[in-house]
Amino acid sequence: MRVTLLGTGTSHGVPAIGCDCPVCRSTDPRDRRTRPSILLDLGEGPPPAAGASAAAIGSAVRYLLVDTATDLRAQALAYNVRRVDAILFTHSHADHIMGLDEVRRYNAIQQTAIGCYADASTLASLRQVFSYIFDRKPRAGGGVPQLTLFQVGGPFSMGSVEILPIPIMHGPWPILGYRVGSFAYLTDCNHIPEASWPLLEGVRTLVLDALRDRPHPTHFTVAQALEVVDRVAPERTYFTHICHDLPHAATCARLPRGVELAYDGLVLDL
Ligand SMILES: [Zn+2]
Ligand SMILES: [Zn+2]
Ligand SMILES: [Zn+2]
Repeated sequence: MRVTLLGTGTSHGVPAIGCDCPVCRSTDPRDRRTRPSILLDLGEGPPPAAGASAAAIGSAVRYLLVDTATDLRAQALAYNVRRVDAILFTHSHADHIMGLDEVRRYNAIQQTAIGCYADASTLASLRQVFSYIFDRKPRAGGGVPQLTLFQVGGPFSMGSVEILPIPIMHGPWPILGYRVGSFAYLTDCNHIPEASWPLLEGVRTLVLDALRDRPHPTHFTVAQALEVVDRVAPERTYFTHICHDLPHAATCARLPRGVELAYDGLVLDL
């Protein structure tokens, strides 16, 4: 499996509009962070042909997008994302869903609707925020994304791969992280409920929220994220959802062995 970190920034992105701080003015490309999203390539043979039946597509899922970040179009162009077979949503905050309209392009390329997987509250928010997609009113011109919504209530399969949702807390909101094999993606969290720790046993590669050093009501700080790393004990950890307080090189230099900041375009071969 291959994981591409499409975006590793917090909701404002880095650089932030109108900010002259050292990170926002940095010339290190790893300090340029778009909104958070990853692409999983399950590497399961060739993707289904255009026009293939829903059943054929369901059994041939290869590319899983996690969230449709505000920057989805720019990310897809930057990292050559030519196909999306399904979308997993972590939660409905704007930075994680606002790229949903860009999925039209994959509908056009693949000639099929795309399955979207989310918990009940995220599905309700998607229907509300994107009412023009889901109201089924006929429209002249334009066009809307063709999506099929599925409610996540526990582990489910994509082809031969099991997707394990991991309930995590994002301030007062229960949201979802996801685990596939020994890889886990936990963005936007500041607390892991006791019942979720067993779901993280055996994780070897972890991508984890670490917003900044200063406390925040809904995100782990670097120090809090390191406590999670201690308990999960993965081989490799990459921090994401990073704000402009953390310069890439200087922050990586003070992190323990096996832990580093992710950056946009980072590819993990697992
Ligand atoms: Zn976020
Ligand atoms: Zn800044
Ligand atoms: Zn959020």
